Amino acid sequence: MSLSLHYGVVSSLGSGVCSINGLVLGFVGQVYDIRLMTSTSSGLVVNLTRDTTGNLTVSSLLFNPTDRISVGGLVTGRPSLASLVLGDFLLGGMLDPLGNVLLQSSTVSSEYAWLIESPSIGLIDRQSVFEPLQSGLLSIDAMVPVGRGQRELILGDRYTGKTSIGVDFILNQRYEKSVCVYAAIGQKASSILEVFLSLIARGALDYIVVLVASSSVSSVSQYLSGYTGCAICDFFMLVRQLGSLLFLDDLSKHAVAYREIYLLLRRPPGREAYPGEIFFVHSRLLERSALLSASLGGGSSTALPVIETLGGDVSAYITTNVISITDGQLFLSVDLFLSGIRPAIDVGLSVTRVGSAAQWDGMKLVGGSYKLQLAQYAELQSFSQFSGDLGSDTKARLLSGASLVELFKQVNGSPLSLSYQLSLLSVVSQSILEYLSLDRITFFVSYPTSVPSWVFCCLPTLYLGLSITRLNLTLAPSSSPV
Ligand code: ATP
Ligand code: MG
Repeated sequence: MSLSLHYGVVSSLGSGVCSINGLVLGFVGQVYDIRLMTSTSSGLVVNLTRDTTGNLTVSSLLFNPTDRISVGGLVTGRPSLASLVLGDFLLGGMLDPLGNVLLQSSTVSSEYAWLIESPSIGLIDRQSVFEPLQSGLLSIDAMVPVGRGQRELILGDRYTGKTSIGVDFILNQRYEKSVCVYAAIGQKASSILEVFLSLIARGALDYIVVLVASSSVSSVSQYLSGYTGCAICDFFMLVRQLGSLLFLDDLSKHAVAYREIYLLLRRPPGREAYPGEIFFVHSRLLERSALLSASLGGGSSTALPVIETLGGDVSAYITTNVISITDGQLFLSVDLFLSGIRPAIDVGLSVTRVGSAAQWDGMKLVGGSYKLQLAQYAELQSFSQFSGDLGSDTKARLLSGASLVELFKQVNGSPLSLSYQLSLLSVVSQSILEYLSLDRITFFVSYPTSVPSWVFCCLPTLYLGLSITRLNLTLAPSSSPV
């Protein structure tokens, strides 16, 4: 194909939208370059129309709308869809949505050209989600388990710990041979740097890729970054046959970016001024998560999209869309967060549609009933507020519920290993919590994690004994020596 087919000129400009005439050939998703005095500016083709004379007019969005472009500028279309260069050198690095490396920590050994948007894996090449992807958070692993290849939405109001949950997931992949992509969409650059530094400080440099589309970049870059994240995960899943985790923080900003693009192109808006095709935009993004069949290497791509709600409203347009696309959600409640229950996971509203298929059998054994118990506790608590005189049975149930709530509190950035979680839950299942006052439970749970977890796994009795001595327990009268 002759390259002359891809030459054109800028015919009009405005608000980051550029119309190009003179191209003989163009396609949606193509990247083109506009020659400036000393550099080039690039953009993405989003619309193709014919003018009254039948000539092709291409509408496109500039990646950097502040570039000094003028009408009549020469345009060269790249003869391919938007793509980027991938490889192991990305690990520990920072990229922009077009794949330009902002920070690189390892040398380039091999490079692969990869399309940013590509079709998702077909049904035949997938297998059902069955392997757990440990989060390191006791409340998630015991009650709302996430599997490799699953899409689990993290949902909550502003400042309820959404990012912290994703970061904990990433930190816990250190021992799981998974590559993690943190796609920061529409976040403040300072917050992105903070997360990046905290990940590095906890030794995640070897297996993370940070994709930066901060709130100060153009909406088209923010929109593309979700797909770029998928492309990186696809690469590690298909080529390296590894597990990968894509943390999309957050998809509400992604939807807003797409709405901006749509309105700039003067297309008619739909509900809440979002374009009608916003469902397709997000489903196209999230359906790229998969667990590959064994014949293709068994790699996986797990997605953790984040949606920010307003006033806990889960019935908003984008929220309901993404809830229906994903395989479950972790709902973070602002009331729980403010009352000090962190992670603020509302177990009543959090679900996983994969169910316990993605939970390790041992965990099923010890963690099976906590979700129900906590839901019952929440119900009982709301009823008991209206009644002054409670029976002893109700009081005991309320106390055991409160102990469970204390048990599942966990400080962010301190993921627990599976063996530690198992030993803790199996010890707790022996009704140990009854003997501990509420303020002692947190201390009991956060018993030195620096001790290798196998110690707890092999010697739960010793652990229990040590804890009891250390806490200077007052044993129940029935078991105390006379
Ligand atoms: P935003 O809406 O601004 O993106 P967010 O929902 O992502 O906020 P985070 O930034 O993750 O929330 O967390 C908000 C604050 O809560 C942070 O200071 C974080 O350290 C704290 N936090 C989150 N989870 C926990 C936890 N489990 N224990 C203690 N503090 C926590
Ligand atoms: Mg956040």
